[in-house]
Amino acid sequence: MQIQYKPKRSWLGTILHVEIIKGLSLTLRKLFSRPVTRQYPEEKPEIRRGFRGQHALVRDPQTGTSKCIGCMRCAVVCPSRCIRIRIHKEPATGNRRIIDCYRIEALRCVYCGYCEEVCPVNAIVLTEVFEYSSNDRPSLFFTMEQLLGNWDRFAAQLQGPVDEYVNPFWRPRGLPEHTLPAPKRLPVSREWSGEEQVVGKNWRRHHRPEQS
Ligand code: SF4
Ligand code: SF4
Repeated sequence: MQIQYKPKRSWLGTILHVEIIKGLSLTLRKLFSRPVTRQYPEEKPEIRRGFRGQHALVRDPQTGTSKCIGCMRCAVVCPSRCIRIRIHKEPATGNRRIIDCYRIEALRCVYCGYCEEVCPVNAIVLTEVFEYSSNDRPSLFFTMEQLLGNWDRFAAQLQGPVDEYVNPFWRPRGLPEHTLPAPKRLPVSREWSGEEQVVGKNWRRHHRPEQS
């Protein structure tokens, strides 16, 4: 079935170019009104807590290496299958898992945050860094060294205690405490618990009166 749209036109409107005049008046009005778009990159967006940006692997301050134990949970839960991990077991250390390769293909990531929620030892996090686009595809395949470097840079510019910032992301919300592994029973500030949360729709409702 073919559907045709035929706009109604009056002969007077056609002679007087009413549609063109309407369009020009709209353009003129918008020309002198305040822009609603952000003038990026001159004007940077304000990043709020909970923003999911560039991936990082947390550096263990005691060992100086990643906290990752190679459990594979992040790779299994990732909906876009962008985490690749290769391990081997070391008999000399009681079959401890040794990570041969840990890689994240950032181009395929959908920034769902499942990897950081599922990680039993809080080894992976999505940082606030969002400006890391590139024309070079291989540079968006993050290796373990790059992911540790991402953490070092992010932790260095973080204001306030690191734990206070990242704990809410590592602790899945809505789950009873006893179902969480011990490292995930983390203290979370009031603004991140229950109805105190002001994210998504809630955040917009919360802030709309100030914007108008
Ligand atoms: S944020 Fe989601 S899509 Fe991205 S690496 Fe983690 S689990 Fe995968
Ligand atoms: S879930 Fe955490 S510990 Fe397990 S492989 Fe992923 S980053 Fe490493």
